[in-house]
Amino acid sequence: MTYLAVPIAAKDLDQARRQIKAALAAGAEILELRTDYLEDLTIDLVKKLITETKNATEQSVPIIVTCRDHKQGGAGAYPEQLRIEILTEAAMNGCDFIDCEYENFLSAAAQEMLKPVLAESPKTRLILSAHNFKSRFEDINRLYQDILKACPTAIPKLVYTANHINDCFDAFDLLRNSSGGRIVFCMGEAGLTSRILAKKLGSFVTFASINEEAATAPGQLTIEQLKGLYRYDSIDADTELFGVIADPVGHSLSPAIHNACFADGDMNKLYLPLLVEGGGQGFDKFLNNILSREWLNFKGFSVTIPHKQSALNFVRAKNGFIEPLAEKIGAVNTLIIDKDGKPAAYNTDYAAALDAITSTMGITRADLKGLPVAVIGAGGVSRAIVAGLSDVGAGIRIYNRTVEKAKNLAAEFNCDFAGLDDLPNVDARLLINCTSIGMHPNIDATPFPQEGLKKDMVVFDTVYNPAETLLLKQAKQAGAKTVDGISMFVNQGLAQFKLFTGEEADAALMRKTIVGCLFS
Ligand code: NAP
Repeated sequence: MTYLAVPIAAKDLDQARRQIKAALAAGAEILELRTDYLEDLTIDLVKKLITETKNATEQSVPIIVTCRDHKQGGAGAYPEQLRIEILTEAAMNGCDFIDCEYENFLSAAAQEMLKPVLAESPKTRLILSAHNFKSRFEDINRLYQDILKACPTAIPKLVYTANHINDCFDAFDLLRNSSGGRIVFCMGEAGLTSRILAKKLGSFVTFASINEEAATAPGQLTIEQLKGLYRYDSIDADTELFGVIADPVGHSLSPAIHNACFADGDMNKLYLPLLVEGGGQGFDKFLNNILSREWLNFKGFSVTIPHKQSALNFVRAKNGFIEPLAEKIGAVNTLIIDKDGKPAAYNTDYAAALDAITSTMGITRADLKGLPVAVIGAGGVSRAIVAGLSDVGAGIRIYNRTVEKAKNLAAEFNCDFAGLDDLPNVDARLLINCTSIGMHPNIDATPFPQEGLKKDMVVFDTVYNPAETLLLKQAKQAGAKTVDGISMFVNQGLAQFKLFTGEEADAALMRKTIVGCLFS
């Protein structure tokens, strides 16, 4: 069992009462009283806090009492003697757990005071914790053994800062290779997944805060994020894992849409944001770490900036399956790990765009043959769309600020190109914006002159924030049909979901989730 612990980090009893109420209402399974946050800390104050907490929880929610040493992340710089007395008092008051720093537990004062009290308080268990706020532990396995040697009945707690997602594998391996009560996870943005996967891997506790302001450690998620977005309550040892590999990843809407659809289908699957820094090298190391640990149960990934090319190279090097059009586009946005642990590569971007266009125009892909199309932009999205349109035989002209890039892309897919100053002369049935012009916060910008928009045009803007860009507003005013960027985003998500699960997702739910995230 993994308990969801919520720190109560209050400066006085009033604030503590409010935090306890909020934590219990949100579903806290353990309350950690971080007494080092109390101002004017005294034994009496802690006694009162323990009594109040027990009354509020009606004794049904276990309590950890911690008085963290300032050197290991404590809020107040209280003397060692007082900190030990507080833990002693907590044990004598029947608290379920007391948390002492392993290093401090080795001191003569701690040994003299804590050991006899723990012997007389069989209900209370000792958590021996070690923190590294800078980086990984030099030898986490040795530290784990040393802690158990110092007190075989203790729950070792090993928490360190992950400076890269690849640092998390020490924590995963330790959880995998040990059993019984132990608490292991990483701090920092790169350590986020370890806080969520703590439950899948059987850590005794994972921590979440009531809200962002109340977080007591870097990278701590809120209970709402953990239970809502990351489906905490349905995670178990068998949960299959998916995620989006990106740098940066914080803005990605993919965790929201896939987790909403997994929940909708009652599937034991979880989708994570995976911040993979360090370009191709960081990517290869991450994927190799995943592939060598099939017990983690990762089954598939979305891949986005800047790793779409690295993903293709990686699968090529592993001799995995590469969908022919993904090979032609030179970019991969979906990876599937097959049952033999081999990666396969797909690109759902081009199909997403083509489907968004054909469904709006009420035509088939074959009808796009010979259609005059103007594509503005020559970056990643443009590449996927040009590849798809060229595959169906559309007549494409690429317009780009950097004309050289338009020229190179046009040469690859055998189409025309021009600079942006040629846009007033566009004569196309389909106009597609593949630049970021018009994207939030620059919502008053448009890549195309209003007077060039015609009634018989279809105008597609890949920008999805805002849902209706200035370009689309003006296109509607001109009487043109429009396709928004959310439709393409939903389509690529639907295609990925099908690759991940073999099943269809609810498009309306995906769209509603995106709109909810963007405009809440
Ligand atoms: P990218 O590879 O960085 O390409 C950006 C393109 O925009 C380039 O052609 C660039 O021209 C052009 N550009 C940027 N700022 C410009 C400016 N101020 N004036 C003129 N041109 C400018 O980015 P990407 O991955 O292709 O993404 C482009 C846009 O697509 C994103 O901003 C996003 O809104 C949208 N998108 C939509 C979806 C979806 O599913 N709907 C998915 C991904 C992206 P240069 O070559 O001259 O730099």
